[in-house]
Amino acid sequence: MYKMMTPGPTMVAENVRMARSVETGNPDLDLEFYDFYKETCELYSGLLHTKNESLILSGEGILGLEAAVASITEPGDRVLILDNGVFGKGFADFVNIYGGEPVLYTTDYKKEIEAGALREFLEKDSDFKYATVVHCDTPSGMLNDISVICPLLKEYGILTVVDSVSGMFGNEVNVDASKIDILCGGSQKAISCPIGLTLVTISEEAKRMMENRKTRIASFYANLLVFKNYYEDKWFPYTMPVSDIYGLRQALENIKEDKDIIKRHKRIAAKTREALIRAGLHLYAENGYSNTVTVFTIPGGVTAGDILKIMREDYNIMLAGSFDVLAGEVIRIGHMGYNCTEENVRETLTALDIVLRKLGVELKDVLEYR
Ligand SMILES: *Cc1c(COP(=O)(O)O)cnc(C)c1O
Repeated sequence: MYKMMTPGPTMVAENVRMARSVETGNPDLDLEFYDFYKETCELYSGLLHTKNESLILSGEGILGLEAAVASITEPGDRVLILDNGVFGKGFADFVNIYGGEPVLYTTDYKKEIEAGALREFLEKDSDFKYATVVHCDTPSGMLNDISVICPLLKEYGILTVVDSVSGMFGNEVNVDASKIDILCGGSQKAISCPIGLTLVTISEEAKRMMENRKTRIASFYANLLVFKNYYEDKWFPYTMPVSDIYGLRQALENIKEDKDIIKRHKRIAAKTREALIRAGLHLYAENGYSNTVTVFTIPGGVTAGDILKIMREDYNIMLAGSFDVLAGEVIRIGHMGYNCTEENVRETLTALDIVLRKLGVELKDVLEYR
């Protein structure tokens, strides 16, 4: 297997793979599984510093985003879309699909959302049912400060839907302190599970909003209300992927034991950026760097394809290019979750040094982890 230094999916710990292979019962009929599911949700909520209920949905991260939007959007609702990245903008599509009216607040894709400017905007127009915010916009590695932005939106009575699929557990997330109404996570990023699960964490206010709708939620699979009373009634809306959830539980236990997790991500991310800059490469963003992924601009004269191919074929390391407006422009090094060790990043940067030189890129200094 190759070393998968991509910003999701990430590498998976041995004990998580093992947990997924144990014998399973029937999750619909096995009453103990309802406890296991609920305790896993509570463990996750606890790690995100909230008592709000979390739900594990059977589907990849995108399902979580769609479910959040489907469940609280009614036809004609104005929704503020904070757009300083590809995922940021992408929320507008979901809002459109469910009949809402997305209003884009578009800012420079190389900079984090600036609270002062957002406040000025809200002073003029704050008539929004909710706003969507991306914590770490993975294609550019842009980190938005949700601890400032979400409370600011709430000051204006605007609920918040936050996509922290690639942000959480590498960057601090405190749902209660940040007043986040719906937080979306995914199994395959810093949680370091295989692909297949998404998690949504829902405030009481968001639940009331769903329950007091005038129109029905136009979905079943993306309807968060279908989980209502699942525990009391011992009835899941659909059969739960029990092995995936066993794996998730182990991964969350790993995170709980890992007292240094955020500090390690922060240190490794900072050292990765320093190494690239010393070598004369350019980071894509000007500020707002996430601890989970580092994105640099492809130097002149080479292509993303060349770099990725040689890294993979000669050094057995997979890095990622990017997509949408960033396709062909940048390379991404994913150092989140189980990827995020000094050894992994050291090996990656050393290989990248050789590959770039081979392709004729002149580096100012040795590209290495120090
Ligand atoms: C990975 C990711 C998702 C999930 O989407 P996929 O691209 O299908 O994996 C959602 N939001 C963000 C910010 C992500 O990084």
